[in-house]
This record gives sequence, structure tokens and C-alpha cells, in this order.
Amino acid sequence: MTDNAIREAAELIFRARSTVALSGAGISVDSGIPDFRSPGGLWERFDPMDYAHISSFMENPARVWRMLDEIHDVVLKAKPNPGHQALAELEAMGRLDAVITQNIDNLHQEAGSKQVIEFHGNSKRLVCLSCLFSYPSEKVTFKPGKPPRCVCGAILKPDIVFFGEAIPPFAYHRALELAGHAEAMLVVGTSAQVAPSNMLPGITRANGGTIIEVNVGSTSLTAMPNVFHLNGSASEMLPRLVREVRRIAAEGA
Ligand SMILES: [Zn+2]
Repeated sequence: MTDNAIREAAELIFRARSTVALSGAGISVDSGIPDFRSPGGLWERFDPMDYAHISSFMENPARVWRMLDEIHDVVLKAKPNPGHQALAELEAMGRLDAVITQNIDNLHQEAGSKQVIEFHGNSKRLVCLSCLFSYPSEKVTFKPGKPPRCVCGAILKPDIVFFGEAIPPFAYHRALELAGHAEAMLVVGTSAQVAPSNMLPGITRANGGTIIEVNVGSTSLTAMPNVFHLNGSASEMLPRLVREVRRIAAEGA
């Protein structure tokens, strides 16, 4: 990726009155969390329409926890990478309003991002569907083969959006609002094909905003009008991009 492309994207962010980021699985790959949909991924061993469906959890939560145990193991070991850190830095510089994330790994928050819209919830919170008590995951004892339980006795559910469940209404409305106002949207590590998050770049474009896509290779977004593609991984591209925004800001000051 040429320095010119980075500079052009950085100028778009610098000029934008409002910038928002939309992140997906790709940003966490360099943190050791594989894309569940990739070959050999979790969804090949556990059919998501079965194991990740809310009705399966309601019927037999212990069975669904065989899959959740694996997610939990991977997510607990993961640490934010330079891509997450760069977005947190951009927010701290006053150049990023929020991150809308499809990820459930809490890594944006761990990197220091303050405004994080969790579209699909957060696996580091657990909730009881019986008494609605909620627990941070560090307060919960995990033993393989033994689903964690609430003090009331019910099996806990990670506070993530299962198939058959709605996007949390606050996250949904806030994301629509942010996408509508954004003059620039960073789309990072996602092809933005899964509904309803796939409509967010479209809302920004329809309001005259520009998309800065950071993905390895092209996606269905790449060829669309008002999409600027930085071809590379988030952990490589975002630190370069943010460094350039900082440089432009220092020059302009
Ligand atoms: Zn309970």
C-alpha cells in the first residue's frame, strides 16, 4: 500500500466533521481470534443455525455451552492488537466519534476505546435469563463441561446476540444515527455483508459520506462509489493511517 493512499485517507479523516468506524472479525484475527466463518473455523464444527440459535440455548443450554466453551477459551486469551490501539488513539485525538463493532471480544474497550457500540453484545458479560442478573466474566468460574450458573441456579448465557435474537435496540439506533452523520466511515476487517450491519456503510454513502475500507483484498464494498480501499490488515494499516492523521493535524496547527 502506497504512502499516497494512506495520506489521501488520512486527509479524508482530518477534513471530516464526523468519523465513525465499523469493525468486524478481521480486526481481531491478529489478536488470535480466527474468523468463525473461515475454513476450519468454529462454524464448520458447530452448525451456527443450530448451536448459535437462541431456541437451541433455551432448549438445552448445556449442549450449546460445548461451543461457548471454545469461544470463551479463545476470547479470554486474546489481547488488543495495533489495529484496536490505533482506533483508540484516533478517538483520544478527537478524530473518531465511535466504533460500531460486530465483534463480541471486548478488545476495543481493552485497547482504550470509550465509545463502543456493541452490535452483537459482549462475551465478557454473562446474563441469567431467569432472574436477569448480569455478571462480568472475571466473576464467573468456568470449568470445561460445566456450564456456569447464576446464584439462582439457572445456566448463564453470554450477553451476545444469538441467531433469532434482535440487535440490542440502543446499539441499533445509535449505529444508525452515527452512520447518518458520518462524513467518513472506516470499515475495518469486515465485508459488511451480514444484515443489518451491512446497511451502515450504505447510509453513510447515501448522506454524502466516504467509506475508507481497510480489508485484505477486495470485498463487495470495494467497487462502490465513494469507497476508498486500503488493502491490508488492520494491524498494519490503521497505525500508519493514524500516524498520518496526527502528522497532518500537527502541520495544520
Ligand atoms: Zn439467575
